[in-house]
Amino acid sequence: MINDIGDKHFDKTVRHCEPRPQDRLLAYKPGKIFMTFRNDGAVELPRIGDLQGPMRYLFSIDEERFFLWDSQEELSLRGYDYVSNFVLRTMKPHDLCFAGTTGYHLSVWYKNHRYCGKCGSLMKDSEKERALVCPQCGNTVYPVISPACVAAIIRDDKILLTKYAGREYQGYAVVAGFMEIGETAADTLVREIREEVGIRVKNLRYYKSLPWGFDSGILIGFFAEAEEGEEVKADQCELSEARWFKREEMTPIDEPVFLGAEMMELFRKGEDPYSLERKKSCAR
Ligand SMILES: [Zn+2]
Repeated sequence: MINDIGDKHFDKTVRHCEPRPQDRLLAYKPGKIFMTFRNDGAVELPRIGDLQGPMRYLFSIDEERFFLWDSQEELSLRGYDYVSNFVLRTMKPHDLCFAGTTGYHLSVWYKNHRYCGKCGSLMKDSEKERALVCPQCGNTVYPVISPACVAAIIRDDKILLTKYAGREYQGYAVVAGFMEIGETAADTLVREIREEVGIRVKNLRYYKSLPWGFDSGILIGFFAEAEEGEEVKADQCELSEARWFKREEMTPIDEPVFLGAEMMELFRKGEDPYSLERKKSCAR
């Protein structure tokens, strides 16, 4: 998945340092990143070289430092262009794609918080942490991260998959939705499942979470077991389809890049938590 950068270390410590020519530059427009493709089709991000302008240090991956092009002015560099950041979801190398999406998340936050929400003054970088501080009233804001829950719903060796209505992505997916204020992750999951497919669930099993900078989010994945006898009623506004799949009806997914896809693949291989728990109790 996109945050899988192998042995490399993502260092998000805030530093106040000057850009060097060999450092990487991250520049964005809404939904787009300034990049090119290498000959092998992999993603390439520009190096600062002799570019001049406002730049902000963001983070490092191993020795590679990443700066944000902190200007409204569009960058222009031979061979490079603003490309839909959708490509970062599926392409390689993972470290540059992860840097691209995490930088996008930060760039949206910086752009949306130039001015203090309390008094309207221009915000300044905090000296000690990743935060913006108002020099007039002291208001401090931290990066906004919106959590969403992802649910793989299972019953009697079948998984419930859905298709969204009116979205670009037309494949089958698991149920997902944003957390609302005052909810725990489990509350969100139960509510979303009830709203989207009309069933009740039990025995939630946390799987893993995934930073999702495209939507300033973090995805929190769970497996859930559907209660017996519940009938699926798909929300007609959100979904075009919702139905149960047996393992043998599913197409293998080679390298799942989405959290939901990875969970679907675990189920297909019989490696979901309920199958593993059953195997364990049989072995006893
Ligand atoms: Zn203020």
